[in-house]
Amino acid sequence: MKILVINAGSSSLKYQLIDMEGEKLLAKGLCERIGIDGHLKHTPLVEGKTVFDEDVAMPTHSEAIAAVIDKLTSPQYGVVNSMKEIDAVGHRVVHGGEKFAASVRIDDEVMKALEECTPFAPLHNPANITGINACRAVMGDVPMVAVFDTAFHQTMPSKAYMYALPYQYYLSDGVRRYGFHGTSHRFVSSRCAELMGKPIEELKIISCHMGNGSSVAAIKNGQCVDTSMGFTPLVGLPMGTRCGDLDAGVIQFLMHKYGYSIDEMLNILNKKSGVLGISGVSSDFRDLGKAAAEGNERAQLALDMFHYWVAKTAGAYAAAMNGVDAVVFTAGVGENGPDSRAAICEYFGYLGVKIDKDANNCRGKEVLISTPDSAVKVFVIPTNEELVIARDTRDIVG
Ligand code: ADP
Repeated sequence: MKILVINAGSSSLKYQLIDMEGEKLLAKGLCERIGIDGHLKHTPLVEGKTVFDEDVAMPTHSEAIAAVIDKLTSPQYGVVNSMKEIDAVGHRVVHGGEKFAASVRIDDEVMKALEECTPFAPLHNPANITGINACRAVMGDVPMVAVFDTAFHQTMPSKAYMYALPYQYYLSDGVRRYGFHGTSHRFVSSRCAELMGKPIEELKIISCHMGNGSSVAAIKNGQCVDTSMGFTPLVGLPMGTRCGDLDAGVIQFLMHKYGYSIDEMLNILNKKSGVLGISGVSSDFRDLGKAAAEGNERAQLALDMFHYWVAKTAGAYAAAMNGVDAVVFTAGVGENGPDSRAAICEYFGYLGVKIDKDANNCRGKEVLISTPDSAVKVFVIPTNEELVIARDTRDIVG
C-alpha cells in the first residue's frame, strides 16, 4: 500500500510518499509560494531518478497538488507509474477541537466538522482544508484520512484542560486547553515503550518536543494527561519566537502604553518573543549556542530560560503522574542539542536521573542517554509525524 502524506500550509505544501511495505520513504517534497508564483522541490528516493527543483506556476493549492502528482508519476522524477498506485492520502490537520479524539476518514460530514473547528486555528485549519479540497478535486475517489495535532491530547482529564474562567466560555465557546504536537508525542512515547520492552499501559513518560515550537506532554499508561500548549500553540514554554506562558495583564499594560491593536500585540507574542525576543540574536538554537559561547549574556539567558521551563514543566508532570519512568527528547533541539539536553537533565537530580555524557553526545538518532543506574530512563527519539499519519491512514483505509 502506498500512501501520500500531505501537510498543507497557507502558501506551502509538504508531502511524502511512503510504501507501507517496510515503511519505505519513496519521495518527499515541498511546494512553496503557492498563490504568489510557485516553486517545487521534489526529491525521489529511488535509484535512477532525479531531483526536480524549479519554479512551477501555482496560483492555488490545486495546481500544487497536480504538480506533485505529475512529478510522482513522471518517468524522469517519478516513483510510481500512475496515480492509481497511490492507495490513500493522509492529511495533517492542526485542530480537531473536541470533535476528533482520533484520526478519521474524510467525507463531506468530516469536512463540515473541520470547518467548525476553524475558529480555533484560524491560520492553520483553512490551509489544511484547502489542501484536502485540492487533493479531492485532483485525485477524485482516492480515500483520504485526517490526522489531528490535537487528537492525542483529548484524553486529558477536565482538571488539566479547563481554564479557571467563567464556565460558560467552555460550554458555549469551547475555550479550554487542547494541546498540539500530539502526533509527535504519540509517536515518541510509543517508541519509548518499545525501546523499554514494556507495555505503554504500564509507563509514565514525559515527552519533550523541542523545536521551533516546543511542548511537553505527560503520558500516563499510554494516555496524555497534561500538556503545555493550550487553546493555541502560543503558551507553555518560551519557544523560538513565541512567548509561552504570560500574565494576561502584561497584554493590557503594553496595549495601553503603546497603543497596539490586538493583532499587533499578538504578532509580537507570536513572532517577536521567545528566545528571539530575549536574546535579540535569533530564534535558532544553533545561533544562540554560538552567541552564548562567545559571551553574549542575553543569548545565554534565553537558553537558560528555555531549559528552566522545560525542566519545571516536566517537574509538574512528574507530580501529576506521581512519578516518571522515562523522559524523551525529540524535534530539532531535542534530537540535535546535547547541551540543551544536559542542561535540562541537570534539574532532574531529585528524580535520580543520571546522564551518560558520551551517549548524550549524539545527534539525530535513537539513543538511550541515561546511565544503567539512572532511576529514570532518558531517550533521544527522532520524531516522525509523517509516518504516524501514514500508519493511521493505512489502518483506517484498511
Ligand atoms: P519546527 O519543526 O518546529 O520548525 P524543528 O523541530 O525542525 O522545528 O527544530 C528547529 C530547531 O532545531 C531550530 O531552533 C534549530 O536551531 C534546532 N536545531 C537543529 N539542529 C540543531 C543542532 N545541531 N543543535 C542545536 N539545535 C539545533
